Amino acid sequence: MRIHMAIGISLCMLVSGAQSQSPMQQEAIRIIRSGSQPSRPGPAENFTGSVRVDPLFQANAPARTSGSLVTFEPGARTAWHTHPLGQILIVTAGTGRVQRWGDPVEEIRRGDVAWIPPGQKHWHGAALNSSMAHIAIVEQLDGKAVDWIEKVSEAQYGAPLHAEGASIDAGAQPRPSQGAIGDFAPKVGRAD
Ligand code: MN
Repeated sequence: MRIHMAIGISLCMLVSGAQSQSPMQQEAIRIIRSGSQPSRPGPAENFTGSVRVDPLFQANAPARTSGSLVTFEPGARTAWHTHPLGQILIVTAGTGRVQRWGDPVEEIRRGDVAWIPPGQKHWHGAALNSSMAHIAIVEQLDGKAVDWIEKVSEAQYGAPLHAEGASIDAGAQPRPSQGAIGDFAPKVGRAD
């Protein structure tokens, strides 16, 4: 039953495809060969430290997404910035950092995927003692994919990491002695 329906739908699609050339222009698959697009350094006004940007694909209208592979040496990072329609970061190597303005610094590792919501001020980069590479995918709005703000200071970069599981522990009431000292987050020891 399901198979018959699938075949029927497929036939319909074939017939309709053959009847009309459709308003969509016929266009062959394009393969952008590895190494065919020169890598460039991350510009000093938007990055701190050594950053290499390897373009992967440009936004081909009417599509609006573009992607690049960005490699940060240890300690290197973007400036604070926003993306009008957000951004996806796929960590492909190493250990890094990502932070939204007002939130703790989060660690990101190879295989992690971070979604940066639209308009959220944030930065991303390598850990202090590890390089990090991510594929960054953004969607343009009116031809623009990023708005740069100010650099990430050393103090901001070096702020304590958000401890994993902290939100679970947050339910525990602090002992009076802790309250007197003030709020503190348990620091998770981790070799970067
Ligand atoms: Mn970003």
